[in-house]
Amino acid sequence: MTYDVVIVGAGVAGCTAAILYGRAGLRVALIEKHRDISTHKALCGHFVLGGTQSMLRRAGLWAAMIEAGAVTGHISRWTAEGWFVPEPGLPESISLRREKLDPLLRTIAAGTPGVDLMLGRTVTGLLESEGRVTGVRIGGRAGGHVSGRASGHVGGHVGGHVGGFVGGFVGGEEVHARLVVGADGHRSPVARLAEAAEHVAPNERFGWWAYYRGVVPGGLGGNQIWSLDPDVGILIRTDDDLHMLVAFPAKARLAGFSADRPAALERFMAALPDAPDLSSAERVSKVIGTNDYPCVRRDPAPRPGLVLVGDAAITGDPTPAVGCGWAFRAAEWLVESTAPALRDGADPAAGVAGYRRALRFIEAHDRLGRQDARALPANPVQRLITKAALRDPELGRRVYLFSMRAIPVNALINPRTLVRALWAVMRP
Ligand SMILES: Cc1cc2nc3c(=O)[nH]c(=O)nc-3n(C[C@H](O)[C@H](O)[C@H](O)COP(=O)(O)OP(=O)(O)OC[C@H]3O[C@@H](n4cnc5c(N)ncnc54)[C@H](O)[C@@H]3O)c2cc1C
Repeated sequence: MTYDVVIVGAGVAGCTAAILYGRAGLRVALIEKHRDISTHKALCGHFVLGGTQSMLRRAGLWAAMIEAGAVTGHISRWTAEGWFVPEPGLPESISLRREKLDPLLRTIAAGTPGVDLMLGRTVTGLLESEGRVTGVRIGGRAGGHVSGRASGHVGGHVGGHVGGFVGGFVGGEEVHARLVVGADGHRSPVARLAEAAEHVAPNERFGWWAYYRGVVPGGLGGNQIWSLDPDVGILIRTDDDLHMLVAFPAKARLAGFSADRPAALERFMAALPDAPDLSSAERVSKVIGTNDYPCVRRDPAPRPGLVLVGDAAITGDPTPAVGCGWAFRAAEWLVESTAPALRDGADPAAGVAGYRRALRFIEAHDRLGRQDARALPANPVQRLITKAALRDPELGRRVYLFSMRAIPVNALINPRTLVRALWAVMRP
């Protein structure tokens, strides 16, 4: 089988890339190891920060998510300085549980002309020819195969001689393509097969959450984040009239969460300033989470002919809820950068370099995210900006846009902002 692009993993990044490549007129194989189109990632808080709103609207996914029951809104933030409530007009976050989001994205991808969604197939090897990755080898059991309605344009020569494969797997189905995309999540077997350079940083918080019906928020606004320095609490409205209650405490508090997690989560929430009222709330899910989730960054283009996107490239700290937004946006940057060359039958290498440049936006945020994941007390610059944001509306707006990952890091952290922040806290 030969395609323009083969994408490994039909999660957020893989489905988004498949939809956009398909719309660009390319033939796409979207390979997913799970057999059932409704399988979803359980370990995900799934609210997507406001910085992704414009991309989701451009792709038509915002409207599709709302139709599937997603809830949109601003997020108010509590710090030791008080509540920051965003003004109307700022970008909103959107929340749809993964049990609805994943099947929705896969269904849209499968219905996109040019996209073949191949379910129940596990990629176990990379095909390689003359120093270039030219496709994937599939092991695992045969599964479903769902196609878009019509075929798109197939640009140039696809596949070619297979001189070998990485990973040592012998036998199984081969899928050839001019570009292979590893969108296979934080453990990324594709990255492992390609021996991609990897950097891991510790995460000193753990996170547990559950869904409740009947929560009455106590603070300002329906969605709230408490930055307790270092613990973080989150209350987010989501589909089906539910609230998600999340605790991201520093690991020093792990022991308190090991015996009775529901009770520990509810105690944590009840102790928050302006805590939500849970007296008539009912927990409708088990408590979900993880005690250890390190931050991982990999070379996004580890071999010619191969790129990584989403968690496979950058798995950030889950506490600030950046991962799905990064996966959506990086998929769009990848397609914008590489689709023109793929359509023209040219080498996508220049486009891959453009994708690498676009990822710097995420990498800069991720560098700060990794510092924050150490759960150390806020540094003087963070304390200054937090304080100033409540006194200077323009700074408040910028801090909000930063927290929504809507602006680059240097639009907030720069000498002019620091002078402005100093002035805001020192003037009478
Ligand atoms: C505790 C926690 C809370 C989080 N909360 C949030 C949040 O509130 N908001 C937010 O934006 N992000 C959150 N995230 C991050 C978010 O879950 C990820 O960033 C996001 O899922 C990344 O999408 P992806 O498409 O890269 O990977 P995934 O969604 O993991 O998709 C990868 C896909 O690849 C498939 N696959 C893997 N290996 C193979 C293979 N060999 N062959 C074929 N298919 C394969 C998998 O089955 C899967 O479908 C959270 C993460 C954690 C851990």
